[in-house]
Amino acid sequence: MAGSVLALKLIEHNFTVKVIDKPELSNCSKIAAGIYNPVVFKRLTKSWMLDEVLPEMLRFYKSQEERWNCKLVTERNIVKLFSEEQEIILWQKKTNGELENYLDKIIHKTISYQSIKQNEFGYSKVKRSGNLDVKTFLDHTRNFLMQNGSYLDEKFDHSELKVSETLHYKTIRASSIIFCEGHLIKHNPFFKYIPLKPAKGETLTIEADDLRIGDDIINKNAFVMNLNSNQFKVGATYNWEDLSDDPTQGGKEDLEAKLKKIINCNYKIISHEAGVRPSVIDRRPLLGKHPKYDNIYVFNGLGTKGVMLAPFFAEYMLGYLTNKNSLNAEVDVMRFNPLE
Ligand SMILES: Cc1cc2nc3c(=O)[nH]c(=O)nc-3n(C[C@H](O)[C@H](O)[C@H](O)COP(=O)(O)OP(=O)(O)OC[C@H]3O[C@@H](n4cnc5c(N)ncnc54)[C@H](O)[C@@H]3O)c2cc1C
Repeated sequence: MAGSVLALKLIEHNFTVKVIDKPELSNCSKIAAGIYNPVVFKRLTKSWMLDEVLPEMLRFYKSQEERWNCKLVTERNIVKLFSEEQEIILWQKKTNGELENYLDKIIHKTISYQSIKQNEFGYSKVKRSGNLDVKTFLDHTRNFLMQNGSYLDEKFDHSELKVSETLHYKTIRASSIIFCEGHLIKHNPFFKYIPLKPAKGETLTIEADDLRIGDDIINKNAFVMNLNSNQFKVGATYNWEDLSDDPTQGGKEDLEAKLKKIINCNYKIISHEAGVRPSVIDRRPLLGKHPKYDNIYVFNGLGTKGVMLAPFFAEYMLGYLTNKNSLNAEVDVMRFNPLE
């Protein structure tokens, strides 16, 4: 996500770009459900910088839809199934505050979706949410970069980078390099000091002929989102210990236990996937220049919200690279300066 969005923006602004990527090294973006949710459910607050990131997100992906003549964004409601009375009281309070444009005021007492379990406390809906078809976006970006002669499918070997005023990498000469390696930044000798707090996540794809939820995303400790007429994505888990891309039995059991509290029909598991989210210890994106080298940059730290954050912060990074703006300390990689 990070490298794709940034590369497209750089090319749009007439930079000559070479993307070096070995997609098999990290599953994270490829398996993401691509959901954008303007609301943080835990505290029922607005998502960080929502008013800035949401408009740029929609503008950017919609312009790619036009360019490639494909559908990338589906606007969907997120159906929040309440677990207790307290949640309803908080919801009603927040519908009159900063979330009034995002939370539906109606509290539904009866579930009207086929094969979703009746719920003692009912549900309401988040509006102006949806999802990006991440796989289609990544596939189109890769094809575009290949056609543009801007893509190299290989593992980047950091020891081959010769740093001077002009950078040399094998046969490539470049004025700058921007690392967008997700959680694998831990292997990057220039930036491995950054305190990431990566979180592994697992998802299931299921087939359920009797489940009917339309375009809505059903949420109760896990989400269920339709992919096509009878296939659904179910996610996601969080694990901060095991940081491999391997799906686990524990992850599957966790998701199935949550799924069975949401649906009451038969289903079959079609696939089970895992990836590692590149979250930073302070849960903010990571942008900017290496503390020692003026031509080595990083664009990372998209954490759990790559879809919503990538377009705005890629634009912000572009402004920084072209000297239009400085970086806010909250996202500047210099907040973790190892030389201090
Ligand atoms: C289960 C799960 C569900 C998620 N759901 C959502 C969601 O619904 N909505 C949302 O917004 N976000 C979601 N996320 C988070 C989102 O996926 C991330 O924010 C985003 O994908 C991070 O993108 P990235 O490009 O930084 O990292 P990555 O996707 O890890 O990309 C890094 C790329 O760099 C390549 N690479 C690394 N090192 C090298 C090297 N040495 N040489 C060559 N290539 C290299 C990797 O192979 C990979 O292609 C989810 C994540 C998970 C795991």
